[in-house]
Amino acid sequence: MRKKFVAGNWKMNKTIAGSITLASELVRKIGSHEPPCTVAIAPTFIALDSVREVIKKSPIKLAAQNCHFEDDGAFTGEISASMLKAVGCEYVILGHSERRQYFGETNEIINKKVKKVLSEGLSVILCVGETLNERESGITEKVVEAQVRGALNGISESQMQHITIAYEPVWAIGTGKTATPEQAEAVHLFIRNLIGSLYSDSVAERLLIQYGGSVKGSNAKELFQMPNIDGALVGGASLKVDEFYQIIQSTI
Ligand code: PEP
Repeated sequence: MRKKFVAGNWKMNKTIAGSITLASELVRKIGSHEPPCTVAIAPTFIALDSVREVIKKSPIKLAAQNCHFEDDGAFTGEISASMLKAVGCEYVILGHSERRQYFGETNEIINKKVKKVLSEGLSVILCVGETLNERESGITEKVVEAQVRGALNGISESQMQHITIAYEPVWAIGTGKTATPEQAEAVHLFIRNLIGSLYSDSVAERLLIQYGGSVKGSNAKELFQMPNIDGALVGGASLKVDEFYQIIQSTI
């Protein structure tokens, strides 16, 4: 039985003060009880240190939204995986469609980042997903397969325990259009089978596959009822404590 995993991607939202308030509200809402799933939040880089302080006695884990694939050096504006480790991150989101679309990240770049993050002992939330045009052209599986193969090139079977895949159809991110549970389940099953053929049945069986794309309190339960949907990567709704909490509670 896979333990579900819900992660909040705060994107470029909230000042440090606003991040502290949001994280504090979430800590208060969750209380001292162990949540029914693994929970992580990914504030902006500058808020990581403060948010870590807020969540340190809670079960909430700290995640980053991106990193560079080099350790250090002349890469103005970038942050390395070792810096994220030092600030207390356990997860790094990589390959988000906004990174691919606006910052030109290719599967090769994402693969370098995956390797670097794993080498630091951190875990990866690897985002994959097709655009509307690709879905309508009938190439969803082809696109997702290329993204999974490309990002995981050279990743060993034992390293796979530190990888979560987030299936995020680009047409569903921030648009209010959620994939139906059946549409999402079909791609999740495809990804699990692909991992089975690239690694082994046991790696495939253990792999957590989150769904992302306009997940809300009101639609989470039906998504989580699908056998291959192991949680969610949540954007907009993770900025609202009650919505995010409802998503967490929907994993029961
Ligand atoms: C995301 O950014 O990963 C995401 C799924 O966003 P939203 O929930 O807002 O669609």
